[in-house]
Amino acid sequence: MARRRLAAVAALALAAGALSALGSASPAYAACTTTQLIGNPGFESGTIPWTSTSGVIGAFSGQTAHGGTRYAWLDGYGSAHTDTLSQSVTLPADCTTATLAFWLHIDSAETTTTTAYDTLTVKLGSITLAAYSNLNKATGYQQRTFDVSSFAGQTVTLLYTGVEDASAQTSFVVDDVALTVSGGTTSQNPVVTNPGNQTSTVGTAVSRQIQATDPQGDTLTYSATGLPAGLSINSSTGLISGTPTAAGASSVTVTARDPGNNTGSATFSWTVNPVASNPTRTPANADYTLSLASDSTGATWTGHQSIAFTNVSASPLTEVYLRLWDNYHGTCPSNQPVKISNVTGGTLGALEVTCTAVKITLPAPLNQNQSGTVGFDLSIAVPDGSDRFGRDGSYNFIGNAIPVLAVRDGAGWHLDPYTNNGESFYQLISDYQVTLDHPTSVLTPTSGAATEAPGSSGRTITTATATNVREFAWVAGPFVKTSTTTPSGVVVNTWRTSGIASSTAASMQSTAASAMAGHASRFGAYPYGEVDVVLHNNFWFGGMEYPGLVLSQATATPVIHELGHQWFYGIVGDDEYTVPWLDEGFTDYATDIQRGVTGSGCWSSVTWQSSAEKITNSMAYWDAHSSRYGTVVYTYGKCVLHDLRRLMGDSAFNTMILNYAQAHWYGISTVAEFKAAAQAATSTDLTSFWSTHRVEG
Ligand SMILES: [Zn+2]
Repeated sequence: MARRRLAAVAALALAAGALSALGSASPAYAACTTTQLIGNPGFESGTIPWTSTSGVIGAFSGQTAHGGTRYAWLDGYGSAHTDTLSQSVTLPADCTTATLAFWLHIDSAETTTTTAYDTLTVKLGSITLAAYSNLNKATGYQQRTFDVSSFAGQTVTLLYTGVEDASAQTSFVVDDVALTVSGGTTSQNPVVTNPGNQTSTVGTAVSRQIQATDPQGDTLTYSATGLPAGLSINSSTGLISGTPTAAGASSVTVTARDPGNNTGSATFSWTVNPVASNPTRTPANADYTLSLASDSTGATWTGHQSIAFTNVSASPLTEVYLRLWDNYHGTCPSNQPVKISNVTGGTLGALEVTCTAVKITLPAPLNQNQSGTVGFDLSIAVPDGSDRFGRDGSYNFIGNAIPVLAVRDGAGWHLDPYTNNGESFYQLISDYQVTLDHPTSVLTPTSGAATEAPGSSGRTITTATATNVREFAWVAGPFVKTSTTTPSGVVVNTWRTSGIASSTAASMQSTAASAMAGHASRFGAYPYGEVDVVLHNNFWFGGMEYPGLVLSQATATPVIHELGHQWFYGIVGDDEYTVPWLDEGFTDYATDIQRGVTGSGCWSSVTWQSSAEKITNSMAYWDAHSSRYGTVVYTYGKCVLHDLRRLMGDSAFNTMILNYAQAHWYGISTVAEFKAAAQAATSTDLTSFWSTHRVEG
């Protein structure tokens, strides 16, 4: 539209719970305390817990202690004799080092240097650690040490056995026995491996194995707090499984516990996202087929419409929405100007969004690449008013009257409200086949290319085909038509109402033809072959754009502007409600260039009303700040592009915007895509440019 309007859409932003992963184990403590395990090791406290043969433990004349006054004296009789000395000891499993040490003194009356007549064996459990004999006799004590770490976790008996033969005594004197354990694991706590922050989706099954180890290899049991609803942990295996039932973020702590109640745990965040809508825009590839007949003036139309469409998204399509835009005409009237009935191909719901939307539930969900068709009887009654949908005298302007499919994309269904300040119309490229049965005296310029054939008496059948367009509009009345053709072969028809002089229309026709050629040279060849320029000076706005048909005051600027919309919104589509700058700002820029306006110094006049005011704000914002819409989106908005052109250089900018249009030909463009295209075409970092110019998205 020329000068005025637009608004915004609430973006659903998921707050991804960005909690940092917190892994923790319970405080460690010393499971293996360095300990000497032998009871009464120096034999100073009676005999317990030793077991020995008679006369082994004590203080005797003839030997001396290594420490203290008492010791164990095996043998020394000079006759056949066996003494034993033993004690049971339990070596802790948690200690990896164990050392047996004792002091041994051997004296003997034997004189041989070759024969072991009298022996002492030292055993721990079933293992013989050492064997001594009269051959080892020596003055004083020697300390004997043995690594007995391999006995960790066992209860074994330390056993000394001294055996003498019949003659020549040998004394085996033992003192200060020590079996010292140390080292090894410092904790008995299990250790849970932190799995890191988790993300899952409502309705999608989850299986996450928690890993934990126990220093002693103990069997572990698992528990968890803070698990998202629908999930549980197997206490035996640590497997978290289930299907999340609700979106949200929580902090989860998984604890592993050993039989001794030692625990370890890990804490991490778990974010459950709602079911994401597939970002692919759908339904697509729509074929609209209409057959309508008018009354004698072209003010009411009745007939039938069908829409064939395909779900191109991977997410099933369970319903479609029709937008009945013209049911909001200032208010939601009780007698809607656009009515549908006798719906086939689905179940009709109630009117929504101030009468501008209605859901049709499909008989069965359509999977990706499956198609459906809905049909209905349609009636259109054009209300009084010189408007884009209105009747001024005998002239009927019939824009946005045909029910169109709403778009579902990553944000879900776009069911934005109608805005009188601009456009809410977000539509995908479609094909239209429209048959209009009308009085021959009522001319019907339409979107697309039309042929006429005689109808019943006094009537004409106009058949219009519009391929690769987003919507279809027509006008009906006693217009006066003139035509011209651009050098590239585009037919430009001018249709004027009775208040417009033929000379004015001729001037506008020339302006329009030049504009069509100019826009095509900058943004790509006009693909439709024909365009209708409907001139009327009673509109309360400058002009309004439809594919292949524009409404305009009979002055140059709106004519050039509306024709610019053939590219920006028409061929290069956008969500007009969410970011009107992408169509209005670009079209006003195209208008400037066509008019030879360079916007020199344009940014110096920019002043912002508030920090919330942005070039890229939506119609929701502009409907609430309507006095600023034209200034910011059109005037500042085109200045953004002038400035960007100056920054990049004319050649680079012109190539970029042409390529950008080609890249989104018949598609949908976004601010992010435009920014990326511009950035890719210049070595200058545009970050500050976008910030300064308040281009966000
Ligand atoms: Zn516009």
